[in-house]
Amino acid sequence: MKVLVINCGSSSLKYQVIDSETEQVQAKGLCERIGIDGRLIYQPTGGEKEVTEAPMPTHTEAIQMVLDALVNEKSGILKSLDEVDAIGHRVLHGGAKITQSCVIDDEVIKVIEECCDLGPLHNPANLKGIYACQRLMPGKPNVAVFDTAFHQTMPTKAFMYGIPYEYYEKYHIRKYGFHGTSHSFVSKETIKFLNLDPDNSRVIVCHLGNGSSISAVKDSKCVDTSMGLTPLEGLVMGTRSGDIDPAVVEYICNKEGKTVSEMLNILNKKSGVYGLTKGLSSDFRDLEAASNEGNKLAEDALDIFSYRVAKTVGSYVAAMNGVDAIAFTAGIGENDPGVRAKVCSYLGYLGIKLDEEKNGTRGQKLVISAADSAKLVAVVPTNEELAIMQETVALVK
Ligand code: ADP
Repeated sequence: MKVLVINCGSSSLKYQVIDSETEQVQAKGLCERIGIDGRLIYQPTGGEKEVTEAPMPTHTEAIQMVLDALVNEKSGILKSLDEVDAIGHRVLHGGAKITQSCVIDDEVIKVIEECCDLGPLHNPANLKGIYACQRLMPGKPNVAVFDTAFHQTMPTKAFMYGIPYEYYEKYHIRKYGFHGTSHSFVSKETIKFLNLDPDNSRVIVCHLGNGSSISAVKDSKCVDTSMGLTPLEGLVMGTRSGDIDPAVVEYICNKEGKTVSEMLNILNKKSGVYGLTKGLSSDFRDLEAASNEGNKLAEDALDIFSYRVAKTVGSYVAAMNGVDAIAFTAGIGENDPGVRAKVCSYLGYLGIKLDEEKNGTRGQKLVISAADSAKLVAVVPTNEELAIMQETVALVK
């Protein structure tokens, strides 16, 4: 089967066509500046990258351009759109009703609509992508793969906040968690790679990228995760603050005459390691370089980030009464040996020791713990598009 995987943001759209038999990407790309002007990037595997500037007033025009590129006589990878068997959509928020990926029908669309309040930036954009595909490829099955679904196995003690119960009843305020597709994929890959028992294993997945989150996966099911009602909770991230005392919001609002929304914008976009380094960078390559050159703020930001990761890992060891393996994934987790070493330097009490040479490798699936480490530590690359393709095929086969 050939699956078109779509990940819609408010003004952008990432896509890939993946062959399910070979699991190879046949073409991929990006539409940028949707609703502003519009640019299509199209990269057929083994071919030249093409960049086309053309107006894309809405996601429908953007997807139409993607489809045109895919069947283009010169560089298209498909003879006709009939070759596309299904479309898999990444959807941010499925609330508490959605516990797994689903073939999209009116019911599923209703839930995604209902969850727009909880994911105001992403769910409306995800819906636009779904509507556009339904319009442009009528009759093809569309599947929604939710960022929140994998975390729906969390027990009450993990997902409830200590606030008046009525807010849970009235507005469904609770921890949902995100990056679920990645946590699900990487935890399964880790179990396979390390020969663990899917029904009797405790894995901690550290998804460290621009947005970062950690999950505790016991017997293949998520029992806790660091992001919350929104992706702002938890770790210190590229530009997000992660956990802070909520009273900080009121304090700064009063001091600086800001509104709560302005403060939330700051906590989402101007905080994290970016804010901690006075805007130097949110990219860990820049921070590692600056720190190596003696920049104290960058050094501290890397420490603050790694310390929070290690504390969260420790709390998940408590949540699962132990751990068998820790997996590092996503941009930083896969590529930053410095962060991995710092995090593991706090985990000596678990008997964890890294193999320095192996930890120096980037982006490969690899055990990086030393032979005499009491627990396994591995780098396990994530692949959310592949995971979305697999879920889609499983549902439409
Ligand atoms: P997202 O999908 O959340 O946008 P990624 O998982 O792609 O993010 O992670 C991107 C981040 O990974 C970059 O901002 C950068 O901080 C980090 N990163 C990528 N490559 C390296 C590297 N070689 N060394 C350190 N950090 C890296």
